[in-house]
Order: sequence, then structure tokens, then C-alpha cells
Amino acid sequence: MYDYDLLVVGSANADLVVGVERRPGPGETVLGSDLAVHPGGKGANQAVAAARLGARTALLARVGDDAHGRLLLQSQRAAGVDTDAVLTGGAPTGVALITVDPSGDNSIVVAPGANARLTPADIRAASGLLDRARVVSLQLEIPLESVAEVARCLPPTTRLVLNPSPPAPLPDEVLAACDPLVVNEHEAAFILGPAAGPEPEDRAQGLLALGPKSVVITLGAEGALVASAAGAVRVPAPKADAVDTTGAGDAFTAALAWRVGQGDSLAEAARFAVRVGAVAVTRRGAQESYPTAEEVADR
Ligand code: ADP
Repeated sequence: MYDYDLLVVGSANADLVVGVERRPGPGETVLGSDLAVHPGGKGANQAVAAARLGARTALLARVGDDAHGRLLLQSQRAAGVDTDAVLTGGAPTGVALITVDPSGDNSIVVAPGANARLTPADIRAASGLLDRARVVSLQLEIPLESVAEVARCLPPTTRLVLNPSPPAPLPDEVLAACDPLVVNEHEAAFILGPAAGPEPEDRAQGLLALGPKSVVITLGAEGALVASAAGAVRVPAPKADAVDTTGAGDAFTAALAWRVGQGDSLAEAARFAVRVGAVAVTRRGAQESYPTAEEVADR
């Protein structure tokens, strides 16, 4: 019996957002808007997205013993995420320093802080959790060796979903464990390098050749492409009046990871996940934008 539908092993960041008329040059100071602080980080986002949909969700992450860490724990708990495995201390909570200009473009500096201290030893100490989850979801905002340790400790009955973001070269043992590997078009292009073909179908074939059991390429407003040895299927996104796509990929991946663990085929899970993504983009923010299952059903 599984205690969790989804265990997310990943990052938790405080997003510190300031609106600016223009970005400062070297040595320059500009005044911005009031500071807004939002819970973020890909791991924390995914956990909130899944829990809000009704998945029994746990987060394995590390935050600092500080106000940002408490904000993150509070947002996880408010969404219904089990935070017993969230480790505290060792460094300040990770932060993303974000300036937004009037055209809506973001410039971001990330200080990984405690995320960089989620070590392979932490993973081994929590490895009992991996047995208790149907699906484990990973991203790359924690050390790559910790990601690899999850793949190594994974029981054969637990399914692994990886979104390699920010993109980095992946060890074969990690790639081979992915079912699916979930990438957007930039991440696909990074991993494939010059071998990337022009069409998503070509890219999916190229990615499958690297060893994952299945691949999902997200295509923004176009939806997603799912691919495995059985073939490739396009899953269109519902039409949405997008106001803010921040965190849409995290909501998509969390929804997909949850649904494959519930027995959906990859295409069925993607059909659900694009509806979750389509709601998320109609609202501002990341975690604040994530829908409940009822809100997805209304779509
Ligand atoms: P990322 O946010 O990681 O760059 P994408 O831009 O591909 O990834 O978006 C992830 C998912 O979010 C898409 O597969 C889709 O389901 C949903 N999505 C993103 N933008 C839109 C949009 N404009 N309209 C509808 N759905 C969208």
C-alpha cells in the first residue's frame, strides 16, 4: 500500500519580485515597486499543484531556518502537502531575485541556498519515503548527485518523472529511470544539442534514443507531445486567455505525474495535465494560480 500518490524531491525558493521601469546598469541604482514575496521553486510548486488537485503528496526538500522557510512550509501545508520530510537549516532558504519590467520580461538571479545542501546523504536518510510513493517527481534545482541518488534508491515499483530544469547533462542511469522525461522545447534542444531535429516528433525520437522509457515535450499554447516505444501522440491544449505562464510547466508536470500513478496512460495523463496548465495560465503567479480538481472539471 502506498501512503503517497506523489513524492516530490526538489527545490523550495522564496520568489522576491520587484517591478522596475528599467534594469540598473553596472554600478547604478534604480528604485522599484514594493517588494512582493511568493512561495516558489519547482519542487514546491509541483507539490502544491498536485495536492491542490487532490493527490496525497509529500515534499522532500531543504529550507533555511528563517522567515522564507516558514513561508514555504506554510504554503505547502495550506495546500495539504505532507511536509514531515522537509529538512531545515544548513543555509538560508533559496531565493529567486526577480525584476519585472513594464513589458513583463523577467530577469532572475537565483541564490540556491538550502536547496544546494539537499545532499545524497539526505536522500539516503529519507529513502524509506521512496517505497511509500507511487510516483516520485524530480527537477534539477537540487544537486545532480542527489537526483542521481533518488534514481539509484528507487524501488522498482515506484515510477520516476523528471523535468530536467534548469537543463544540465544527465547521467545515463538517471535518463534510463525516467518514465517520462518531461521537457519544454528549450530543454529538449539543450539535451539534444545539434542533433535536435526541427519537429517535436523528431526531438521526441532523439530523446527516447537516450534511454528514458517515455518522453513528454510541452509545447506552450500548443499543448504537448507524448512519446514512447509505442509511438507519439500530440495532445492539444485547450484555448486559454493566458495572463501569466509562470509555473505552468510545474503544474502540468505535477498533474501528469499524479495521473500516471493512478493508472492513466501517458496520453490520458497529458490530456488532464494540459487542462490543469490551461487554468494555471489564466491566473497570476505560480502556486496561487493552481486549480483544484473541480476547477479543472469546469474547464
Ligand atoms: P514551461 O512553462 O516549462 O516553459 P510550456 O510553456 O511548454 O512549459 O508550458 C507548459 C504547459 O502549460 C503546456 O504544455 C500547456 O499545457 C500549458 N500552457 C502554457 N502556455 C499556455 C497557453 N498560452 N495556453 C494554454 N496552455 C498553456
